[in-house]
Amino acid sequence: MLDVNGIRKIHKERFGHEPAVFIAPGRVNLIGEHTDYADGFVMPAAIDFATVAAISPSNDANGTILSRNFGQTIERKMQDIGTQGSHHWSDYPFGVVSILQQEGINVPGFHLTLEGNVPLGAGLSSSASIEVATMLAMLHLARTTLPLPKIALLCQRAENDYVGAPCGIMDQFVSCCGAADSALLLDCRSLDFRLAPIPKHLSLVICNTMVKHSHAGGEYGIRRAEVEEGTAILHSHRPEIRFLRDATMEDLDRWGHEMPANVLKRCRHIVTENVRTVAAADALEAGDLKTLGRLMAEAHASYRDDFEASCPEADIMVQLALPLEGCIGARLTGGGFGGCTVNLVESIYAEQFASRIAEGYEKETSIRPEIYMSRASAGAHKVEHSGTN
Ligand code: ADP
Ligand code: MG
Repeated sequence: MLDVNGIRKIHKERFGHEPAVFIAPGRVNLIGEHTDYADGFVMPAAIDFATVAAISPSNDANGTILSRNFGQTIERKMQDIGTQGSHHWSDYPFGVVSILQQEGINVPGFHLTLEGNVPLGAGLSSSASIEVATMLAMLHLARTTLPLPKIALLCQRAENDYVGAPCGIMDQFVSCCGAADSALLLDCRSLDFRLAPIPKHLSLVICNTMVKHSHAGGEYGIRRAEVEEGTAILHSHRPEIRFLRDATMEDLDRWGHEMPANVLKRCRHIVTENVRTVAAADALEAGDLKTLGRLMAEAHASYRDDFEASCPEADIMVQLALPLEGCIGARLTGGGFGGCTVNLVESIYAEQFASRIAEGYEKETSIRPEIYMSRASAGAHKVEHSGTN
């Protein structure tokens, strides 16, 4: 649990002013992987792990950011923030400031203290949580407000353009608009969403393979390029296909032979994943947990075999989970190539599940995993003075 009052105190001691405090959660994606940038569907939930941003004005023309996680303070002149980062953790918060400047929002000089307990680079979107928490803090200082979906879009732009990581809209959106005890089915084209309650007797058990993924380039970018290549081929035959959201399995059956084998497989994952994601939201709403679990298993197999974005450790983690008592569904979550699995587990079995999976995983891989228990949690908000979260 983050000690919000402790962060407040540290900020005041360091910078001399009582801060305003904001919190934004990380997320776990239940289903819908690499569908967001294809204008498709995703169904994440915000989690109990988050980043806190404490802010006060600096009364000069500098922006100063302290990351408690990195134990480092970085100071920049507001006019020198520019439009591109420098491959440093401070790119994420300065990227947010840069995008606001580009939007014509006048952010004054500031002192910002950041602390998060979302594990960094584990696929639970510490990046979106630091961006969204920072943006709420900056908007507060600039005495302005924006609608939450707009905040999500601007944070995505900060990550795409300033940090240089080609992420979709899912992470920032659910960090903004997530709700307690609910999964969020998002249509990434219209940004319409609906909340599907997660039954009270279920827990999210998140298992960290401890295998690091990296989004700023690498495999994630290669997958996006493959998807674009396949989309262009379909578009040349059916111009209304602008994204894979618009394509069906019939389209792939008809024109897939024009694609390299790897490109066809990537497209097949996304086309089938969109169908599975909408069906999963329907199943969750209907309380049909058996169907939900089956869809999560199919999603993992598609991610592993067609999208080739899993890794041996994540496959082992999922294999270990499925036969355990109380397990409703299990799959690799997030951008892929490592990170965490998400497991929907009956709460009465959650502790037992966690210890058995940790034991089994360490035995098979010699890696000690981290296991996080969470409920689906609220989206980003201001934390009033007496609150501890
Ligand atoms: P993920 O979003 O899955 O955690 P990313 O690679 O997208 O992984 O983002 C992780 C990066 O975000 C970190 O390496 C760091 O640069 C930045 N970050 C996240 N939280 C913090 C924090 N509390 N303080 C400083 N930087 C942070
Ligand atoms: Mg990220």
